[in-house]
Amino acid sequence: MSFSAVLDSLALRKPPLVRGFEQLIEPKSEADLESMAQASRRLTLQNFGRTMRLFAPLYLSNECINNCRYCGFSRDNPILRVTLSIEEVAAEARYLRQAGFRQILLVAGEHPKFVSGNYLLECVRALAPDFPSISIELGPMRTDEYIPLVRAGAEGLVVYQETYQRGVYAELHTAGPKRDFDYRLDCPERAYQAGFRRIGIGALLGLWRWQEEAIALAAHLEYLLQHCWQAQITVSLPRLRPAAGGFRPLFSISDRELAQLICALRITFPQVGIVLSTRERPSLRDALVSLGVTMMSAGSHTEPGGYTRRGIEHLHQTVRGRIIPPEFRDGEDKLATGQFEISDDRPPERIATILRQRGFEPVWKDWEQTLSG
Ligand code: SF4
Repeated sequence: MSFSAVLDSLALRKPPLVRGFEQLIEPKSEADLESMAQASRRLTLQNFGRTMRLFAPLYLSNECINNCRYCGFSRDNPILRVTLSIEEVAAEARYLRQAGFRQILLVAGEHPKFVSGNYLLECVRALAPDFPSISIELGPMRTDEYIPLVRAGAEGLVVYQETYQRGVYAELHTAGPKRDFDYRLDCPERAYQAGFRRIGIGALLGLWRWQEEAIALAAHLEYLLQHCWQAQITVSLPRLRPAAGGFRPLFSISDRELAQLICALRITFPQVGIVLSTRERPSLRDALVSLGVTMMSAGSHTEPGGYTRRGIEHLHQTVRGRIIPPEFRDGEDKLATGQFEISDDRPPERIATILRQRGFEPVWKDWEQTLSG
């Protein structure tokens, strides 16, 4: 049975593990929440030790043919766009390597004209010698399109379903191939078949009631743990941030609820990695470190060229796939537009220091490509 069928029957037939998870995300007293937090800390320690994987996103392009109402890169937003050349990507990567990173996440909007399969292949080939762990977060592809990327050195794939509610998904994704809910939903399995050894999923919190998204996410995790059992599975819980286009979240999840959700995921899925991005503010990130999170981004930029200001000389706007000269507003920084605003802009070495002060070992590298033969 595909996960699509599991999802569609979830209201009527919840697996026992998911029913247990559902109870964990119900409203709790302070005392109950504290005992969940203790269980979550203990399980995280048992399964991951006192370590925190650090990674950075490297945005290749902010071109996109989709319209996602919540995203600054949506094709109808008149933003400053760029697709970095391979040399510019390499320069951004050198900056991140000097900052200590050996694990990077390549991110791009979905635009076959600007972000082609060959372009991606060249990016991965250029970075593989310096980065033992390269993950990608791009528009979903077919298995045969993923295979060359895996062979070139990409080992992780991240794809968020955004929302698991079909009706909400249809309302928010108004144009472009991303409208195909099931093609996105099946992407982790296609990636697994292609040989990716890390697979990350997530829901964008703020598009629908978080409890319903969390239950679907838990069901998806359980499904992937059964069907893609050789891969390391991670889960992200990004909360919507302000972005170009001005979309405002219709639903919210408080800090306390987010902490409870992290604990519930850890208790239900002790072996799953939990990712926390720089979308969250510093004080909250520091507090969540010891609660169940196992992987963090640090010092992130969401603009292509944001680390080194590469690519600014070919900034432009894009109208129906056609490049037009940029219109700079008064006082506007001449840099490509970012996907969303960052909350924690502390540099990576500061994050590493804070982790050590809290008794955690920052892990910049935990994999060597030669180990995969
Ligand atoms: S969320 Fe992804 S697909 Fe949608 S507009 Fe943004 S970059 Fe494009």
